[in-house]
Order: sequence, then structure tokens, then C-alpha cells
Amino acid sequence: MHKKGSFRAIYGVSFRALRTGEVFGAVVRDVTLCYDTQGDQYTVDELVAQIVDEPLNAVDPTTLADNHRLLQSAEKLAHNPDQVVVSLLVNFITRETRDRFLLGINNSHKIQMRGSRYTTSTFKPPSTRVVQCIKCWQLGHWISTCPVVGKICGICASTQHSKEEHYCEVCHKYGSPCQHKAKLCINCKGDHPAYTMKCTKRYVNADVAQRLGAARPQ
Ligand SMILES: [Zn+2]
Ligand SMILES: [Zn+2]
Ligand SMILES: [Zn+2]
Ligand SMILES: [Zn+2]
Repeated sequence: MHKKGSFRAIYGVSFRALRTGEVFGAVVRDVTLCYDTQGDQYTVDELVAQIVDEPLNAVDPTTLADNHRLLQSAEKLAHNPDQVVVSLLVNFITRETRDRFLLGINNSHKIQMRGSRYTTSTFKPPSTRVVQCIKCWQLGHWISTCPVVGKICGICASTQHSKEEHYCEVCHKYGSPCQHKAKLCINCKGDHPAYTMKCTKRYVNADVAQRLGAARPQ
């Protein structure tokens, strides 16, 4: 049975005021929460507390910032209601303590929580994330709301094929840019694929990305 309230136990955690100043985030990846089999109803703070309580992780609680949260889209939860895989964002007040946490137990890049080991990775703040459609490669919307009918190649901007179908007869490779075929960016008309960070349009779009990123279900 799917208990709706369980999700609220996690997502209902109200965001506390952000600290003034920069925080340094670490992501604890692929945390599986099984509600109905184990009856787990952890809040974000309870998950973080379990990390702190585990001596192997060697986390000094005074080095933690606040605003820890789950990074997971609501859609994925709806499709898999009994067992959800989430990423947990843990914020630290200094880069050094965050990086030490990332190194994990015996430099394994894994930490221990609830008897299991989980991989850690550096959190990249949303302000550097670009909103780009992976179907039409235009900026400012995700594929779920793409208005474009038909194909657009992310490598050469052709409307005859998709990026995956982009083919080089010399390399015999699909879907990757090379020196034999012309590249054209749909966004700036420059000679690079539309998805590379070479494209200055992607930086210009950072504001929009941040706003849309904040509006996404987390
Ligand atoms: Zn699109
Ligand atoms: Zn192409
Ligand atoms: Zn080639
Ligand atoms: Zn470009």
C-alpha cells in the first residue's frame, strides 16, 4: 500500500533560512528509501543525523550548514511509489570540511548511513546549470515542454536528423562531433555543438536557468 503521508514526511521539511555566505554542498547519491517494506519515514534532518551519528563518517556537526535537502524530481516518486531513490544534499560551512566528507571512509568516496555505504559527489549549485532542451537544443525549456515538432541536430543544427542520428562517414560514428563534419550551434550559430560550454549563449542564459531551476520540483 502506498502511503501518501510518507512522502510528505520527507518533502514537507520546511526550508530554513539560508546562511549568509557561501555553503559547500556534498551529494550522498542513490539513497534508497523503502516506505512500505521497512516503514521508513525519515525527514532530511533525520537522514543527516544518521550520517553524523555514524562514527566512521567522522563528521563534526559544528561544520554543518543548514538547508540540507533531497535532490529528486516528484515525477520519479510517482512512478515508483514504494521504493524511491533519492540524492541527499548535505551542506557544510567550509570547503575543507565538505571535501573531507566527500573523501569518505578510507578515501573510498563512500559514507555510511543506516548500515549501507553510499557514494558521495560534489554538489554543483543550480546557478551554473543551464536549462537546455535535449530534443531541439534551445535554451530556456526542458524537453518535457518542448514546442518543436520534428528533429533538430544538436551537433550541426540539421532538421533532417537528431543528434543521435548525426553520422560521420569517415569516423563511422553516430551522435558525436568530429573534425570531418561541419558543426553549427542552433543558439548562437557558432561552429560548435549546441550543448558545449564553448557556447557563450549558455552563460548569458544563466539567469533564466537559475529561475527555472528553482521552480522545478526538487
Ligand atoms: Zn525543445
Ligand atoms: Zn547533425
Ligand atoms: Zn568524422
Ligand atoms: Zn553556441
